Amino acid sequence: MSETNRLSANASPAVEHFDVLIVGAGISGIGAVHHLREQCPGKSFAILETKESFGGTWRTHTYPGVRSDSDLYTFGYRFKPWTGAPVAQADTILDYMADAIEDDQTDEHIRYQHQVLKASWSSEDQLWHVEATKTDTDETVRFSCNFLWMCQGYYRHSEGYTPDFKGLEDFKGKIVHPQTWPADLDYKGKRVVVIGSGATAATLIPNLADDCSHVTMLQRSPTYFWTGENRNELADSLRELEVPEEWVHEIVRRSLLKEQREIQEMSASHPEMVKEGLLSVIREHVGDDFDIDTHFTPSYRPWQQRIAYVPNGDLFKSIASGKVTVVTDGIDRLTEKGILTQSGQELEADIIVTATGFNLSVMGDIKFDVDGESVDFGNTITYRGIMNSGVPNMAAMFGYFRTSWTMRVDLVSDFVCRLLNHMDEKDALSCTPTVADKDRTMEQRPWIDPEEFNPGYMQRSLHLMPKQGDREPWILNANYFVEKDELPVANLDDGSLVFEARVITAAAS
Ligand SMILES: Cc1cc2nc3c(=O)[nH]c(=O)nc-3n(C[C@H](O)[C@H](O)[C@H](O)COP(=O)(O)OP(=O)(O)OC[C@H]3O[C@@H](n4cnc5c(N)ncnc54)[C@H](O)[C@@H]3O)c2cc1C
Repeated sequence: MSETNRLSANASPAVEHFDVLIVGAGISGIGAVHHLREQCPGKSFAILETKESFGGTWRTHTYPGVRSDSDLYTFGYRFKPWTGAPVAQADTILDYMADAIEDDQTDEHIRYQHQVLKASWSSEDQLWHVEATKTDTDETVRFSCNFLWMCQGYYRHSEGYTPDFKGLEDFKGKIVHPQTWPADLDYKGKRVVVIGSGATAATLIPNLADDCSHVTMLQRSPTYFWTGENRNELADSLRELEVPEEWVHEIVRRSLLKEQREIQEMSASHPEMVKEGLLSVIREHVGDDFDIDTHFTPSYRPWQQRIAYVPNGDLFKSIASGKVTVVTDGIDRLTEKGILTQSGQELEADIIVTATGFNLSVMGDIKFDVDGESVDFGNTITYRGIMNSGVPNMAAMFGYFRTSWTMRVDLVSDFVCRLLNHMDEKDALSCTPTVADKDRTMEQRPWIDPEEFNPGYMQRSLHLMPKQGDREPWILNANYFVEKDELPVANLDDGSLVFEARVITAAAS
């Protein structure tokens, strides 16, 4: 359907129609648009986005020092060279995305302050009917589309996860979650306890340390970190040779991916060796007297959870300087003055920062139904980690965790565009992943194997995520190195996608 033909024959005139509606203007949604424009040039499309601006994660998080924890050569898109330092601050990532939006003239297609609340598939119309609320006016606006492309991320942006600590109301100081960091928070000269030791805590702590009177990192259990200089030697050498930026981007991406693959494979085959390598670098920063066993030696093997990168060892330098103390202990309760740990230590604080993670959001908390029957995604089976059994004409973007999220954005976009073109070639109006009778009894597995990847937000809500089967194409292959070869050649006509063709009636023909 062309850009000008915006009103569907089956949609009421008050309903704006697009071939493709994208939900979310984060790094996934902006990437999806690039590929859609390039690979499906005739399709009309719009992005619906709750926030006032693009960026998703990089707009929501505003705590001091907020930055990526993987390198931007692989977190950046394959089509847009990254020219800065490998680990980047949120504002630099937003600048990169702003450039991508300008390059593709995406801005005019984004409807900001449009929160999608409901999506209903009608088999009679062969369309999605989508309802959104304009967050500035509370007005309900309606759209229809042939294909719905979910780029909503994986966590609820409105608030982070804070465990239900005993005594929360007793604490006389301020409690802050990094996801909703107050712009006017005055932490200068204050005693701050940061609960948590994930990537957020590791970023925040060295960025607070210089201004606070003291910072305590309170963790229930240790996390793995890796560290190094925030520069890429290969990129620097290529630039010295005046190699064009497009080449630098591609070469450095390939080299980093090769390195990551080797480390991940080694983490599975020789976990003790990888563990020792990670710990020895930390030891160099904090010194031999520091109790590495208690504070930095996790009980799980490397890469079972994402390993946060600490550029230039800043976290460890602030520990070595004495500005930051690490306490590894459970929380008994909050008190008037701070936190009482399970071992009986009271940590006094003016501010407590709960870097305790996310609330998982399944499909942007949108209510879905197919022909009036509500969709519980926890009861669907994933089709290649992109579509869902019984849900027509809908794809969802879920990136990698071990490799940069965006590496999958490019691959899934290629797949969705190929599918859209395939549907056009077949003159198909709909495409529904459908488990064949012979596969109905296959074993159902969780979205992600907790043995492989087990962050708290996923463990708390795994039952809400789609299931996997035990065979292709009903699995989420969370491995870039396998998917990069398999996804581009995945057979769309193996029977697991059921296409419904346009019916040409005598009157219409
Ligand atoms: C601090 C931090 C650092 C991170 N660093 C890295 C890293 O270095 N490397 C890495 O691979 N990953 C990293 N991640 C994970 C990161 O979230 C993802 O990699 C990536 O940014 C997700 O992009 P996204 O566009 O898919 O989702 P998001 O960034 O979550 O964006 C989704 C967008 O969809 C919108 N939306 C959601 N629901 C609706 C709805 N119902 N209606 C309308 N709009 C909706 C949201 O408002 C949001 O703008 C990090 C995460 C955090 C929090």
